[in-house]
This record gives sequence, structure tokens and C-alpha cells, in this order.
Amino acid sequence: MLEDLIRSWDGEEVAVHYDHPSGTWMFVCIHSSRRGPAGGGTRMNTYATPADGLEDAMRLSSAMTLKMAATDIPFGGAKAVLAVPSLPEGDERRRLLLRYGDLAASLGRNFQTGPDVNTTIADMDVIGERHAHVFCQSEARGGSGDPGPYTARGVFHGIRASVAHAFGTADLDGRSVLVQGVGDVGARLAEQLAEAGADVLVSDIDPARAGALADRIGASVVPPESVIGLECDVYAPCALGATLNAETIPQLRCRIVAGCANNQLAEAADADRLSGAGILYAPDYVINAGGVIHAWGTESLGWDPETVETRLAGVGDSLREIYRRAEADRVTTEAAAERLARARLDVNSRT
Ligand code: NAD
Repeated sequence: MLEDLIRSWDGEEVAVHYDHPSGTWMFVCIHSSRRGPAGGGTRMNTYATPADGLEDAMRLSSAMTLKMAATDIPFGGAKAVLAVPSLPEGDERRRLLLRYGDLAASLGRNFQTGPDVNTTIADMDVIGERHAHVFCQSEARGGSGDPGPYTARGVFHGIRASVAHAFGTADLDGRSVLVQGVGDVGARLAEQLAEAGADVLVSDIDPARAGALADRIGASVVPPESVIGLECDVYAPCALGATLNAETIPQLRCRIVAGCANNQLAEAADADRLSGAGILYAPDYVINAGGVIHAWGTESLGWDPETVETRLAGVGDSLREIYRRAEADRVTTEAAAERLARARLDVNSRT
């Protein structure tokens, strides 16, 4: 029930709007503005019930608070969900996004948004016609464009840091890395890994996409059903969430899991399962923060390309610190990341 969800949530504000013309429920969840204006993507999806859409927005919004804090940039966490009856196209889509833009604008500077599942740079341009705080609009509209290449760069730095922690050297020469999902982020990551001398394996449910990339960068193709259980140094989930669960973790034959997919752990206990299996896990919201770093850094903090690259390399530094603390405190890397983020939130609540 919507009331129960809202009553039990620990966030700051929920804006709910029912859009009659399209039958869409719009949920904007501002989880925390303790460290600065709250930022997070706008997801468009179909859900079994409106409450499922709200729950998704709430969960994603709290994760954004941790992501911004773990990345140490001065923003809070938010997320919006447009729970549509079916994914709209053309004029219908544009009109829906404009009405959503009005809702977002009513929240002012404290709700800053960008693309997410099923929303594009072109969609951000439309929302940006109504709301002044929309990130990743097209460069033609003065935005920072596609965050994918920057997410990929951050993951690359994160993999190097993880390899250094596990094997004593960040050198990727000869290390086998399996990239699952070679879309916007995964393909660029695979390219950088190949350039760095890694033995790259790629997998995608679109075999033509995987094949073309493999030919171009000299990688091998792995069928999607063979990913879990394949022996490699690093498994990089770059497609879907929840690939790490009670069933898959015992089958993994890798030393490290480090990829860009959101919500890689199906449940909290999976962090313990990974550490019990001797697998080093790079917490997803830390390693995949490159897109946020680039968008919010360039558009809001005035960072130049050199500063952005330094901060993307900082994804590796954050992970090194998380791994160090996890060992020192004898906790999982997921728990260490959360402690680090919460400590930063506590500092802000005292100031
Ligand atoms: P994308 O849609 O461009 O690419 C996903 C790829 O995964 C596609 O090629 C698709 O065919 C493939 N795929 C889907 N199911 C698969 C399966 N079962 N096995 C193998 N391949 C499969 O998406 P993206 O923008 O590259 O993002 C990938 C993941 O990273 C998503 O989970 C996304 O939420 C997350 N993420 C992306 C960004 C970003 O900047 N784009 C930032 C943070 C997190």
C-alpha cells in the first residue's frame, strides 16, 4: 500500500502525481539533501502495481544517497519513477515527459535528475524544457551528454584497483576479464581492458553485438548461459542486476566481481556469500559512479576534463580504501562501503 510505504520510509520527501492522460503514476523520492541538493535518475518502467513503482523509487533513491556520499561529491540522493502502463513513443512520450518536467520543476533545485532505465539523452532534453536541473542533456542543449563512457572509465579504474588488491599488482597484462553485457558501458570497458593487455571475454544476449566487438578488440565470445561458472580473474557484470545470488555465487570461478550493473546483489546476504567464497566484490554503487561524477562534476561543480579524469581515477582510490577497511574491520566490502558513506552523512548532519 502506498500509505504504508510512505509512512515507513526514512527519506525526506515523496511527491506523487497521477497523470490522467497517460495513466502514469509519477513518484519522485528525495531521500536525503544532507550533503547537498538531491540527485538521481528518472526511470520509466511498467510495474505490476503503483506500489511496486514507489518501492523501486524509494530503494533507488536511498542507494543514490550512499552513492553520492561514497563518491564524496556534495549532493544528496533522489530518484524518480514513471510507472507507465506501457512504454510510450513519439508525441505521446514527449507530452508525458513535459508534464513530468512540470512536476520536477515544482520541486526546484532540490530535485536534480538525469537518465536511467528506459530514459535517454533525448528524453532529458524534453524534461529540460520545463525543469532547470536536468543533467546529461545533449551537448547541443549545453548538457554533458551520454554518461556511459565515464561510467566505463570509472569501472576500468575500479578493476585495476581490485586487481591490485587481489594480486598485488594493478597490471592487467594477461589477466582474464569477463564482461557480461557489452552495451553502452560494457563495450567501452572491454575496449579499455583490451588496450591494457587484458585477456578479454565478452558475452551478450545480442550475439551479433558481442561478435562484432570481439572481432574489433581481439576478445573471445562466451555464450550468455556459460557466464556463471566460467573461470576468469575478474567477472564484470555490465548488463542486469541480481546476477549475484544464492544459486550463482557457489558456481562462480573468479577472484573478483567488479562491473557497472546496478543492484548486483540479489539480497544483503550475498555480500557474505561472496566473501565466504573468497571473492573480492567491488560494491556496485561505488564502482559505477563515473557517470554521476562526470555529469554532476562538469555541469554543477565546474570541473574541467583533467579534474574529471582525476576523480574517475578516484573510483579506484575509494575502492582501495574500502578494501582496506573491510579487512581491518573484518566486514564485507559492501558493509565497509556503507559505513564509509554513512560516516560522511553523519558528519554532514552535525554541521
Ligand atoms: P545498455 O542497455 O546499453 O547495455 C546492456 C547490454 O547488456 C546490452 O547489450 C544487452 O543486450 C545486454 N544484456 C542484457 N541482458 C543480458 C544477459 N542476460 N546476458 C548478457 N548480456 C545481456 O546498458 P548500459 O547503459 O551499458 O548499462 C549497463 C548496466 O550498468 C545497467 O545495469 C545500468 O543500470 C548500469 N549503469 C549504467 C550507467 C551508465 O552510465 N550507462 C551508470 C551506472 C550504472
